Amino acid sequence: MQYPKQYGGGEKSMIEEVIVQQELVTQCAAFLAPGIITHSMAVPVLYHCGTDEQKNEFLPKIFNGTHLWCQGFSEPDAGSDVANISTMATKDGDHYVINGQKAWTSYAHLADYCLLIVRTDPDSRKHKGLTYLLVDMSLPGIDVRPMTMITGHADFNEIFFDNVRVPTSMIVGQEGDGWKISITTLMFERVMGDITMASLFEFQTNRILEMSKSLKRSGRPVSEDPVFRQQLSQSYIDILALKYHGLRNLSTQIKGGIPGPEGSIGKLLWSEPTQRISEWAINMMGLNGQVSEGAYAVSNGEFQYNYLRSKGFTIEAGTSEIQRNIIGERVLGLPKDASRHK
Ligand SMILES: Cc1cc2nc3c(=O)[nH]c(=O)nc-3n(C[C@H](O)[C@H](O)[C@H](O)COP(=O)(O)OP(=O)(O)OC[C@H]3O[C@@H](n4cnc5c(N)ncnc54)[C@H](O)[C@@H]3O)c2cc1C
Repeated sequence: MQYPKQYGGGEKSMIEEVIVQQELVTQCAAFLAPGIITHSMAVPVLYHCGTDEQKNEFLPKIFNGTHLWCQGFSEPDAGSDVANISTMATKDGDHYVINGQKAWTSYAHLADYCLLIVRTDPDSRKHKGLTYLLVDMSLPGIDVRPMTMITGHADFNEIFFDNVRVPTSMIVGQEGDGWKISITTLMFERVMGDITMASLFEFQTNRILEMSKSLKRSGRPVSEDPVFRQQLSQSYIDILALKYHGLRNLSTQIKGGIPGPEGSIGKLLWSEPTQRISEWAINMMGLNGQVSEGAYAVSNGEFQYNYLRSKGFTIEAGTSEIQRNIIGERVLGLPKDASRHK
């Protein structure tokens, strides 16, 4: 909604966009839908860092719902230490030729394009010599292999690149700018919808409260149980912390455009409490908590699914340990993590 009409956007304010997202989650419209990477990462990166040609080519297709994107950063030996990537791109005339492997790429099996980081300087190490490319997922030589998650769904994938030829016009920034643009992408990813997450969280907590009135523990409604009431209070505290953090970040973004490392605080504030409330919802169900389908499943197994899916929340978009390192080093200005800077 917040992007210019010339690209097919709604030219509304960021605040209006947040309000619409909040309304969607409270109407049970899926928040963790395949479009999440497209909208939280591809759109801001293309808009802030792409060329005019790239914006004209891609943004309208995203905004009219034709294109989905994925994020090809992680590799088997490069997750938290994403600068350790080894997927190579070698220049051949006006193309890059890509060879290597990405891992855990969400929605790659559905995506039309990928935000890909590759190593263009074979002699470089870590953050140097990386380049950021926009890669058409239908190119010959790309093999996407789904990986089954703990939920039983296969929402993420391995991607293998075998001599994949990508035009040099698909570079974002300059050759060698890959690290800088990747960090910008991750900052957008981490602020994605803190306020929306707070609304989702509140919605789920309210539903748990409603359920607790009809479920019984030792013959009495769970809603009267003091431990449950303590957990409920904690959940409302977590919701407020996330909401006000999100509002503060929104103000910063409205003033400045590109988010900073404070996004890591929001990531912790939604990922860890979301795990806690889904575990707590299952406990509240007693023995029925073990059943996710059939007549005895409470709410059609929704909380069982949330419980399993939420395990990944403290890993994807940077683990909780990495977020704490970022907050320590880049927000609070503490000394650097010695193990990573030897
Ligand atoms: C559901 C899901 C979806 C994902 N989707 C995508 C995607 O679309 N695109 C993509 O590119 N990637 C994606 N990922 C990958 C994700 O970004 C990585 O899994 C994550 O960065 C962690 O990397 P790793 O799995 O290699 O673990 P590792 O980096 O090997 O970490 C292992 C453990 O060591 C800890 N650790 C590592 N380094 C440090 C340190 N310096 N200080 C303290 N502790 C440390 C970690 O916190 C973790 O507990 C996804 C992951 C999941 C679970």
